[in-house]
Order: sequence, then structure tokens, then C-alpha cells
Amino acid sequence: MNDVVLTLNGVEKFYNKGLANEICVLSGAQLNLVPGELVALVAPSGAGKSTLLHIAGLLDEADKGSVEIDGQMLSGKSDRRRTRARREDIGFVYQFHHLLPEFSALENIALPQMANGVSKSDAEVRGRELLNTVGVAHRAKHRPAELSGGEQQRVAFCRALANKPRILLADEPTGNLDPATSDQVFDALMTLVRETGLAALVATHNMELAARMDRVVRLENGVLVDG
Ligand code: ADP
Repeated sequence: MNDVVLTLNGVEKFYNKGLANEICVLSGAQLNLVPGELVALVAPSGAGKSTLLHIAGLLDEADKGSVEIDGQMLSGKSDRRRTRARREDIGFVYQFHHLLPEFSALENIALPQMANGVSKSDAEVRGRELLNTVGVAHRAKHRPAELSGGEQQRVAFCRALANKPRILLADEPTGNLDPATSDQVFDALMTLVRETGLAALVATHNMELAARMDRVVRLENGVLVDG
């Protein structure tokens, strides 16, 4: 299993630890993601999907267990090391697009690349390629407020992929969209995963979308089960 890009090993997470209102959200979650696979993370609201994605994305630390990227142990490492891994290897998409309102779609995708030292012209070339892949190239110069909800989410995917991460973590990325738009946005995500060889973990309530992914993992009583 040399090509595993993300490993969660026995991840445990408690909130309010040691207090009367202690909650055990994760109690030994185990996961391996390989490049090019699109995995659905399914569970009811409150089961711990966001908590799991935050830990996998190095935004939060597990209380026990570990997170590895490309076999590199990142649990317990310095904030600097974890931040670098997050910036280089992980892209995030949320239910709301969180695009910068005063910048165009293209600028929203170019800016994170320029922050990483890419020239403006190269960043815009990549931005246009990504927008083209998800069918929003004709809206490159438009600000987020001038885009439809589905277009905004497709741009958010492009921004998440701007710096060529190996892993995409998405938290209900179509949760705010009507069914037809949701299908369209999901198609765009699928195309991006297939074209880039990304490993994607996508939390969703939508069982039809989940069924279209390569596999489904369910979060049940704090552990991940296949199916
Ligand atoms: P999901 O994404 O599946 O809706 P979450 O990961 O957001 O679930 O939350 C899992 C559980 O942990 C919920 O019961 C939630 O109330 C609780 N929780 C989440 N964040 C915190 C926090 N910072 N402090 C205390 N409890 C939290």
C-alpha cells in the first residue's frame, strides 16, 4: 500500500474532555485514501464528519491516534510543519464558497498561487485551465456575487486545487444547492478528481451522490465502516 496518500490511524477525539459534558466524537477512526479515488463520508448531522475532516486536514489535532500524509507522520508535529503540509498537500471546500467578494473568479484562483510564489501570468493560465475544466471559463472576470450558486461552488473547487494539492477534503460541498445544480457541481468535482489524480474525501448527506463515488465510508459511533 505504498501509494496511500492519507492515513488516519485509530483517531480519537473528545470535546469537553474530563468534564461532565464530555463527548466522544471519534473513537478509533481508521482510513486509507489512495490517489485518484473519490470517497463519500456519510453520516447524520452531528456524527462528527466536520471533526474528522478538520483532523484529516491538520486544522485540528486528534486526542489519540495519528494522521499521515504520504507516510509522513504529522500528528504531534510543530504548527509550522503541519501548516506547511496543509498548504502544500490539502485543499478544502465547504458548504459555502468563501470566495473573496471583491475579486473575480480568476483572481480568487490566482491569488493563492501567487502567495506561493507563482507569477501572476502563470497563476492566471492555471486558473483559466481549471475554470475551463469545470465549465466556468466564461465567468472568469466576474465577481462571486455575479455567479450562480453552482458556479460559485465550481470556482471554490478550482481555488482549492490551485496549488495542486494531493488531497481534497470537502464538507457538504453541494449541501446548499438544488438537486440539478448539485449534480452539475458534482460532475465538475468528478472531472477534477479524474484529471488530477487527487484523493478526495467528500462529506455528504446526499445518498445518490454518495453512490456515484468510488466508495462510501459511514461514520458510526465514532468509527468508519465501509458501505
Ligand atoms: P457533523 O459534521 O457530522 O455534523 P461535527 O463534527 O460538527 O458533526 O460535530 C460532532 C459532535 O461534536 C456534535 O455533537 C457537536 O455538537 C460536537 N462538537 C463539535 N465541535 C465542538 C466543539 N468545539 N466543542 C464541543 N462540542 C463540539
